Amino acid sequence: MKFEALKLIDPILHAVRSQGYEVPTPIQAQSIPLILDRKDVLACAQTGTGKTAAFALPILQLLTEGKPPHPGRRDIRVLVLTPTRELASQIAENFSEYGKKLPFRTAVVFGGVNQNSQIRTLNQGVDILIATPGRLLDLMQQNQVQLRGLQILVLDEADRMLDMGFIHDVRRIISRIPHSRQTLFFSATMPPEIRKLSEQILKNPVRIEVTPVASTVEKIEQLVYHVESRQKVPLLIHLLKNPKILRALVFTRTKRDANRVSEALNHSGIRANAIHGNKSQAARERALESIKKGECRVLVATDIAARGIDIDHVTHVFNHDIPNISESYVHRIGRTARAGTEGSAFSFCASNERTFLLNIERLIRKKITVITTPEKLENEVRSPKKNHRPSHEKRHQPKKNSKGSVKIRPHSRSSG
Ligand code: AMP
Repeated sequence: MKFEALKLIDPILHAVRSQGYEVPTPIQAQSIPLILDRKDVLACAQTGTGKTAAFALPILQLLTEGKPPHPGRRDIRVLVLTPTRELASQIAENFSEYGKKLPFRTAVVFGGVNQNSQIRTLNQGVDILIATPGRLLDLMQQNQVQLRGLQILVLDEADRMLDMGFIHDVRRIISRIPHSRQTLFFSATMPPEIRKLSEQILKNPVRIEVTPVASTVEKIEQLVYHVESRQKVPLLIHLLKNPKILRALVFTRTKRDANRVSEALNHSGIRANAIHGNKSQAARERALESIKKGECRVLVATDIAARGIDIDHVTHVFNHDIPNISESYVHRIGRTARAGTEGSAFSFCASNERTFLLNIERLIRKKITVITTPEKLENEVRSPKKNHRPSHEKRHQPKKNSKGSVKIRPHSRSSG
C-alpha cells in the first residue's frame, strides 16, 4: 500500500516523502482511514511501530479540513498527553515536520523546566498542544491554558502513564475538557486499569492491534548471558568492542547504575553518555544529540528516561539488568529493529534476576536463547580476586582480547 491510497492531502504526502517514508506501517495503514473518518480509536501498539505518524498525519488533515470552533481565534484544538518530556518533544517535532506546509502552531509543555516561556507560547495561540500530565494540570489550575475549543484528544503510551503514576492527573484533565470530541487511545499493553479508562473515555471505539506484545519482539534477535552481577560491566565492555554494534542503548534499573556503567565505559575507551531523571534537560538533550550525530555510539539509560526518546538505527539493546516489570523488557528491546530494520538484544541475567527472566519469557511466549559467557569472564568468576570492589570499578582498562575482536553470537546462529 502507498500513502497516496490513504487519501492524504498533498502537503502531508509531501512531508511524508521528505521524511523518506515509502509505505505506511501497519498501524498507519489501519488507523489513518479511521481517524480521518472521525472514529474514536483504541490502538494497541508500542513505540517503534510508527504510531506517532499514525495519529499525527490524519490529525493534521482533520485540522485542515475542519473549522476552528471560534472563528478569528486560535484555540487549542488538539491535545496529546504523553508520559515523558522526551516523548513530548519528539511528538511536537514530528507534528512540526509533518505539518511544515500547513499553518498550524504546535507547542509542548512539560515539567522540570520553568513554565514562563511555555505560558508565553500558549498566549501567542496554539493549535496543537503536546503535554505531560503534571505540568498541564498545573497550568490548567493556574488558568494559563484554555481547552474549551478542544476537538481531538490523544492519549499516548497510556500504560506508561499508569506505571509512572500519572493516571489520576490524566483523569482530572479529561474531566475538564469538552465531552464532545474525538479520542485516540494508544497503549503498548492493556492492564485492567488502562482498559477501564479506555472504556470510560472512548465512544464506540474501533480497536486496532497491530503488534500484540507476544509478537512484537519476534524480529529482534534476543540472547541472554547468565552472569554474576560483577561480571556485567566487563562483559558489556567486551561485547561493545564488536564493530558491528553501530549504535547501542544500554538499560540499567537505577540512575546510579546508569552513571556507573557510563563512567566505566568511558574509562575503558568507549564513549558513552548516561541519561536519567536526575540529569538536567540540557544534559539529556546533549546526550541525545551526541548519539544522533554519531559522536558516540552508546547511550546508557534508565527505563523512564529512555521512554519516548527517538533514536533511529539502534542496532543493539543491552539489558544490564533484567527488568522486574516484564513489559519494560518489551519496551526496551523495541528500541532496536524499528521501522523494519534488524536488531539484537542482549540481556545480562544475574542469579537473583532469574525469576524476572522467566516472567518475561512467559509474557513474550518465547525462550530467550542462552549464550555462553566468554571464557575470559568465566575465569574471573572461578578465581575471584581478593579485592571485592565491583570489577568495573577496578578494571577500567579491559584486558586485550587475543584476537583483537569478539565473537558475540552463538555458533549456531547467523551473524547478520
Ligand atoms: P514511532 O513508533 O512513532 O516512535 O516511530 C518509530 C520510527 O519509525 C520513527 O523514527 C519514525 O520516523 C519512523 N517511521 C514512522 N513511519 C514510518 C514509515 N511509514 N516508514 C518508515 N519509517 C517510519
